[in-house]
Amino acid sequence: MRYPKVSECVDVFEALWPTALAESWDSVGLAVGDPDAEVRSILLALDPMDAVIAEAVVLGSDLVFNHHPLMLKPVKSVNASTLKGGAVHTLISNDIALFNAHTNADSARGGVSDVLISLLGIDNAQPLVPHAEGSPTGIGRVGDLPTPTPVRDIARTLSNRLPRTTTGVRIAGDPAATVARVAVCGGAGDSLFDEVRASGAEVYITADLRHHPATEARDTANRNDGRPQLIDVSHWASETVWLTAAAEQLETEFAERGLSVALQHSAVNTDPWVERY
Ligand SMILES: [Zn+2]
Repeated sequence: MRYPKVSECVDVFEALWPTALAESWDSVGLAVGDPDAEVRSILLALDPMDAVIAEAVVLGSDLVFNHHPLMLKPVKSVNASTLKGGAVHTLISNDIALFNAHTNADSARGGVSDVLISLLGIDNAQPLVPHAEGSPTGIGRVGDLPTPTPVRDIARTLSNRLPRTTTGVRIAGDPAATVARVAVCGGAGDSLFDEVRASGAEVYITADLRHHPATEARDTANRNDGRPQLIDVSHWASETVWLTAAAEQLETEFAERGLSVALQHSAVNTDPWVERY
């Protein structure tokens, strides 16, 4: 067993979450780092926030593996006094590489939405928006509960199985409605209502549901049969559960290649909401 280079870590990440599965607008892959540098430890986190980068510095991590990109929008400079430039400077001056798998990790089998829907005991879910015709990969998931269940019981199950958050789990629609067909999209999924309706989902679980998309989705539902009911969870919570599954996959993949690297979960909670009254 030997330590991998950054480039070999990228090969492992690519095998699990191929760049080809990413949406065209996305920014995924190695954002900062020298492909030839050695990696002894990787810190896994959801967001490349300053507190996560500071944690990597303290821990002596060689690579930070994130879900969300540091630079989704193009930047024109990495001047250290800018938000993004400051992060890039801290990473480079501490010899820390930064890699992220975003919509490619949403799309992959065993990815973000698969992990989210499996919290409800649904293990054979299909993509809500297949990557290609008939593909088992793609954005969101839809599947059936073994037993029809009231929406409020699903919300309570999610509340118990997701990490505790300030914003909690919210229902729009009829909490007493009994549903079996479930659609999910980890992270912000309010652009997928058409696909959710087309899938026949009776409840849609996603995050960051805003007032207008939510009220319009409810009116659209109420003019038909009232479905889908909506469950809104914390963006952070809906995706952070995936990191545990990702770490297990990484452990196996590195070992199969004869590579030794320590994997650590960030202890920083990057959910921005801290109190509610
Ligand atoms: Zn997200």
